[in-house]
Amino acid sequence: MPPRSALFSQRTLILTLLMLLSCGFFATSLLSYLASRGAIRDGIINTELPLTSDTVYSEIQKDLLRPVQISSMMAQDTFLRDWLLAGEQDAERITRYLGEVMAGQNTFTAFLVSDASRTYYQAKGVLKKVDPQAWRDAWYFRLRDGSAPYETNVDLDMANQDTLTVFINYRVLDYQQRFIGAAGVGLSVDAVIRLIDQYQRRYQRSVFFTDAEGKVLLTASEGGPHGLRVGDLMSASPALRNLSERMPSPTPGSHSYEDAEGHSHFLNVRLLPELNWYLMVDKRETGALDRIRESLYINLTICAMITLVVLSLLNAMIKRHQDNTEALATLDSLTGLPNRRSFDLLAEQALQQAQREQSTLVALLIDLDHFKALNDTHGHLAGDAVLSQFALVLQGSLRQADVLCRWGGEEFIVLLRDVDEAGALQVAEKIRLRTEQARFVFEDRSLQLTTSIGLTRLQAGDQLQSLISRADHALYRAKQGGRNRVCSERTSREHA
Ligand code: GH3
Ligand code: MG
Ligand code: MG
Repeated sequence: MPPRSALFSQRTLILTLLMLLSCGFFATSLLSYLASRGAIRDGIINTELPLTSDTVYSEIQKDLLRPVQISSMMAQDTFLRDWLLAGEQDAERITRYLGEVMAGQNTFTAFLVSDASRTYYQAKGVLKKVDPQAWRDAWYFRLRDGSAPYETNVDLDMANQDTLTVFINYRVLDYQQRFIGAAGVGLSVDAVIRLIDQYQRRYQRSVFFTDAEGKVLLTASEGGPHGLRVGDLMSASPALRNLSERMPSPTPGSHSYEDAEGHSHFLNVRLLPELNWYLMVDKRETGALDRIRESLYINLTICAMITLVVLSLLNAMIKRHQDNTEALATLDSLTGLPNRRSFDLLAEQALQQAQREQSTLVALLIDLDHFKALNDTHGHLAGDAVLSQFALVLQGSLRQADVLCRWGGEEFIVLLRDVDEAGALQVAEKIRLRTEQARFVFEDRSLQLTTSIGLTRLQAGDQLQSLISRADHALYRAKQGGRNRVCSERTSREHA
């Protein structure tokens, strides 16, 4: 088990890395998302929508602005003015004139209103008299009393089965610039609506027209965005409340706003000065940004996966490192045998097991004889080589179940399980003999050594301390007895 502080710092390290990686990945993903979103927004606001607006404008111009030119031409026409000033003789002549304008210019209707007689002429003849009380004729009196040379009016054309028509109403002036009537043409807006439909389908954006107050004049056939219909005021639409706060009346330029459902929209507004209309091109942001939002999510998922992989790899590495460190701390670096620290643990376990199972346990304390002399004669490195080769002799003489440790210096300790004293003496003797016969190799030298062994059996009431101290005592006796021998705590046998 790693100590608490190590565990704590490992967790802190992993948490810190998790934070760093998550923050780093999140920040870079978010930044690149914001950058792409900014670029897309800029593209929409500064390029896409103005471009659509330009294209729609130029396409529509010929349909919407041509009638202005025709009407202007009519209002300036000397024949028309002279005919009015001459007292409107022979209505046939003027209706033929209007019929010819209609046929020649391919307009929906052509008309003339005389201020003197209040008569409304058109190609098919006299339609009616204009009446200041009739709301349908209000345009005429507005034009008469106003100062603008003409006005446009989207209206239902009575003469043509009430088709939605754009009327261009031009003031007709006499040669002294006095108002003598109104002339102009009407143009069905079906063609314009078809054009808007086509644009909406092709570019997935809404195109519509309003007047200067923001009243909707023309939309695609299925209506404008947010359910706007012809005649609706933009400022009255609840969906456009956010926009109305920023733009109370149509203002040319680029605008962005949020609709009632919280979707972002971009709106390009452009004035058509000839008509005093505003062309609006509206685009919802979501469609354009869905893809980069999707890639943000994919990015974040990949980053999360990388973070997980990196952290689990790191965790595995730390664990391996800890295991290594732990192993290093419990093993003796010269011989690779368990060291004294781990011996305490192993010995305690062996003792408890023996006491629990009432089995035998014998301790051997093994010390090389005159090792100092070997060091002094052949050098410390030779001593080291002998120690590690001696460890192999010990390992080769023991069973797997026995406990073997380097006790310190040139002393080793062994715990033999499940052997009686006679068996233990045999093992000790084997070690002694093998050591005596061994040729320890250092460089090109062959070195010989002997070993003394103190032996003792675990007795009832023994602690590890008392067991070792008896073994130490036995070893002392073996040394005293002349070395290269095995002594037990009770018996001591001498060997050659
Ligand atoms: P005795 O027969 O009484 O045990 O004599 P000894 O010389 O073996 O015992 P002593 O305790 O006087 O000396 C032990 C020597 O072992 C002294 C020390 O320098 C040496 N020694 C201890 N550990 C190491 C080691 O890791 N490598 C080497 N080369 N020498 C070691
Ligand atoms: Mg010693
Ligand atoms: Mg010694």
